[in-house]
Amino acid sequence: MPADFEHHNTLSRDKKHIAILGSTGSIGAQALEVISKNQDSFEVEVLTANKNADLLIRQAKKYKPNAVVIADEKWYKQVFEALDRLDIKVYAGENALISIVEMESIDIVLTALVGYAGLRPTIRAIEHGKQIALANKETLVIAGDLITRLAREKGVNIYPVDSEHSAIFQCLVGDFDNRIEKIILTASGGPFRGKRRAELLSVTADQALKHPNWNMGAKITIDSATMMNKGLEVIEAKWLFGLRKDQIEVVVHPQSIVHSMVQFEDGSIKAQLGLPDMRLPIQYALAYPKRLQSDFPRFSFTDYPELTFEKPDLDTFRNLALAYLALERGGNLPCILNAANEIAVDAFLQNKLGFLDISVVIERCCEALEFLPNPSFEDYVCTDSETRIKAKELIK
Ligand code: NDP
Repeated sequence: MPADFEHHNTLSRDKKHIAILGSTGSIGAQALEVISKNQDSFEVEVLTANKNADLLIRQAKKYKPNAVVIADEKWYKQVFEALDRLDIKVYAGENALISIVEMESIDIVLTALVGYAGLRPTIRAIEHGKQIALANKETLVIAGDLITRLAREKGVNIYPVDSEHSAIFQCLVGDFDNRIEKIILTASGGPFRGKRRAELLSVTADQALKHPNWNMGAKITIDSATMMNKGLEVIEAKWLFGLRKDQIEVVVHPQSIVHSMVQFEDGSIKAQLGLPDMRLPIQYALAYPKRLQSDFPRFSFTDYPELTFEKPDLDTFRNLALAYLALERGGNLPCILNAANEIAVDAFLQNKLGFLDISVVIERCCEALEFLPNPSFEDYVCTDSETRIKAKELIK
C-alpha cells in the first residue's frame, strides 16, 4: 500500500478541506451530497468540470468553494461572470486543472475525472502531499508503478473510492499486518451477463448503457457492459494492495451486494456488504478512519434470499482476459490497453464501432505498439498518444 493507513496523518483542522476534480460527474455529484450532509466534517475547497458550465456554476453557488476550474476554456467567460462577484476564483484550461491541486488549503483531492485526464492532476496532487480519494481508476491502470512509488515517497495515502476496492480496504482495516492470500473482486456482469458472442454482435450503445444495478457515467457503464471495468479494477487492485495476478480473482455476483472480499493466509474470508450505493465508499474514503452516520437505505438479508456467484465468461468478454494479460506483462501495456479502450468506447458510443469490436481494437493496439518494460512518465504520455492514433486508424 502506498503509505501507512494505520498511522493516518491526523489533519490539524476539524474539517477536511476537499478538492473535487470532476464535480459535475456522477461521482462528483454524489460526493457533494455526502459533503452537504456532513458539513461539520468537510468543506469544499475546489470544484472542477470539463464543459458543464451551468452545473459547475450551480454547484459553486451552493457550496461556495475557494476556486473552480473549467477545463474547456470556451466556457471561462460564462463561469467567470457568474462567480467572480461571489469571491470565487475562476480558472480555465488543462494547466489550471493540474496546478489547482497545489492549493495549500486542500487536504484531500477526490479524483472523479474520467480517463487519462486524471493522470497529471493526480500526480501533481501527490507531489504536493495531498491525500487522494481515488475514483479515477484509469490513472492507476496507466501508471500504477509511478503513482504508488511517488505516494510512498511523499507519505500520501490513496483511499479507494471504487466500491470493490473500498470493500477490500474496509476488510483490511484491523488486518494491515496480516498477509493477503487473495482478493475476490465481485462483478455484476453488466446488462449482457449470460449472453454469447453471437447475441452481442448488434447490441447498441443504448442497450449497453442500461446497467442493471448502478447509475454511473457513460464511459464506466460501457466498461461494465464489456467487463473492461473489471479488467481495469484488477490492475487497480494490483497497485493499491500490492498483489500478484494469481492473487486477484473475479467472480460474477449479479446482485451487487457483496462488494468484494479478502481471503487471508488462514483461509478466513472477510467481505463487505451493502446495497449498491456509491455514496458509502465515497464517504468512507473522505472520512477515514471515521465512520460517519448516514441515512443511506439499509440492506436486508430477507429481501435478498439468494446471493449468487458464478465464473466470468472470458471468451465472450475478452476485455477481462486482455486486462489480465496486460497486468501480467506490465510495462506500458496497461497504458496501451487503457488508451485503446477509451477511443474504442467513445467510437461505440457514437455508433461507429460494434460492441465486440471494442476488444478487437484493444487487442490490435496491444500487438502493434512498442512494448516498454520500464516506462518513464514521458513514455506513458507518448504511449497514450500513439495508441490513440493507432486505435483511430483501426476504427476508420
Ligand atoms: P462522469 O462522466 O459522470 O463524470 C466525469 C467528470 O469528469 C465530469 O465532471 C466531467 O466534466 C469531468 N471530465 C471529463 N473529461 C474531462 C477532461 N478531459 N478534463 C477535465 N474534466 C473532465 O464519470 P463518473 O463520475 O461516472 O466516473 C468518474 C471516475 O470514477 C471514472 O474514472 C470512473 O471509472 C470512476 N468510477 C465511477 C463510478 C460511478 O459510480 N460513476 C464507480 C466507480 C468508479 P463535465 O461534466 O463538464 O463533462
